[in-house]
Amino acid sequence: MNNRKPERLIVIGAGVVGTTTALALAERGLQVTLVERNAEAADETSQANGGGITPAHSEPWNAPGLLGKLVRNLGRADAPYRLSPLAVPGMGLWGLRFLSNMRRERFLNNARNNIRLGLYSLECLRRWRERYGMEYRQTLSGSMQVYFSRELLAESVQFRRELLEEAAAIEPIGVDEVIAREPALAPVRRDLAGAIAFPEHESGDARQFSILAAGQAEKLGARLMFGTSVQSIRVDGDRLRSVVTDQGEIAADACVIAAGPASTKLARPLGIRLPIYPVRGYSATFEIERSEALPTLPMLDTASRFVTLRLGEHGLRIAGLADFAGHTRRILPRRVESLLAGARRLLPELAEELVAERAQLWAGLRPVTPDGPPLLGETRVPGVFVNAGHGPMGWTMACGSAELVAAQVMGEPPAIALEGFEPHR
Ligand SMILES: Cc1cc2nc3c(=O)[nH]c(=O)nc-3n(C[C@H](O)[C@H](O)[C@H](O)COP(=O)(O)OP(=O)(O)OC[C@H]3O[C@@H](n4cnc5c(N)ncnc54)[C@H](O)[C@@H]3O)c2cc1C
Repeated sequence: MNNRKPERLIVIGAGVVGTTTALALAERGLQVTLVERNAEAADETSQANGGGITPAHSEPWNAPGLLGKLVRNLGRADAPYRLSPLAVPGMGLWGLRFLSNMRRERFLNNARNNIRLGLYSLECLRRWRERYGMEYRQTLSGSMQVYFSRELLAESVQFRRELLEEAAAIEPIGVDEVIAREPALAPVRRDLAGAIAFPEHESGDARQFSILAAGQAEKLGARLMFGTSVQSIRVDGDRLRSVVTDQGEIAADACVIAAGPASTKLARPLGIRLPIYPVRGYSATFEIERSEALPTLPMLDTASRFVTLRLGEHGLRIAGLADFAGHTRRILPRRVESLLAGARRLLPELAEELVAERAQLWAGLRPVTPDGPPLLGETRVPGVFVNAGHGPMGWTMACGSAELVAAQVMGEPPAIALEGFEPHR
């Protein structure tokens, strides 16, 4: 980008990443237009996710050993990670890069970058929450990673200590303490091995937060264009000219592609390669009368890899699973059943309620990069920025990513090092 500061800026996509980007840019006094194809904010991956703001578990999925698990689980409906054999040819170069990033040193490096970003993002989220008085059904009392196997717990404590070094607090806790903090787990006391508590973690409704962020950006002067689909980004010579939508062309000095899993397709005609693969996950949201039986802390059931999220007085969401199956948001009943079976094991008191017929079911596509960290900053085409590829941690990383990209648009020094997040790495 040349040294002239942009004035007219377009953000493409109003998920949690695009809405926060619009807010960070509007706060800097730019003329921001936020363009979204759906009728409202957060109607795709940011709509009904697990809600956890959990920097200390933002390591990428491609930990050493994942390949073996994927192969062993081929065809199994109850596996947390599931690779559809039909999708393998479409994964191409992305798939090879995903595999090569399972090497231990790379994995640790990528994990530490994600954690760094997640922690910075939590600071930014807290600042905005305070500044604008945002309420999004948040919980601020930490999270717990729950274990039913002593060996797995011991391994995990050691791994987390190595991974986090001094970056984030972890607290291994015994069964009595687990029950004291989360009485909803009392019925499984005999099976529990313990937990790791993360006192800094939070949770909240990412959709509600996105709507608030978009609204706040609008109050600061941003123009919100919902129901408007971007068809292409127009570059003349080496300069961004405009963004072409189904409602007409909008002139711009700069744009930020924040279109989640659809970012790759938008960037490709400009010769920009954004390696993002859509990994489907599911959630089931319940309204449960007996609120006293609901868990209050956000929890991760480590072996089955699903999370629980309390939403207000009566709401409970169970979210998880990872299907490598291409761009489809189809809800597969067998996968939902596997998610809910895990939830019933964790919360047997609620077993009768935690059935698909009583749930609002949802599937979303996580925008996953082959190494794990998101793609942040200016691409090789001057004036075209990207903020995408946050994978399973987009809510955790959104506010910080927005601030970093907005700072780069303005030519301000970044608050944390951008190494490891470059869009063309
Ligand atoms: C089951 C599940 C559980 C999860 N749990 C957590 C969690 O607990 N914590 C966490 O941090 N993260 C979690 N995530 C990940 C998180 O939800 C995502 O990383 C995040 O929502 C991605 O946000 P985004 O804004 O990049 O994408 P999106 O929310 O998909 O937003 C992109 C937007 O761009 C719009 N768009 C695309 N193309 C165009 C176009 N051509 N024109 C106009 N608009 C366009 C789309 O309509 C969409 O609204 C979870 C994800 C899933 C699926």
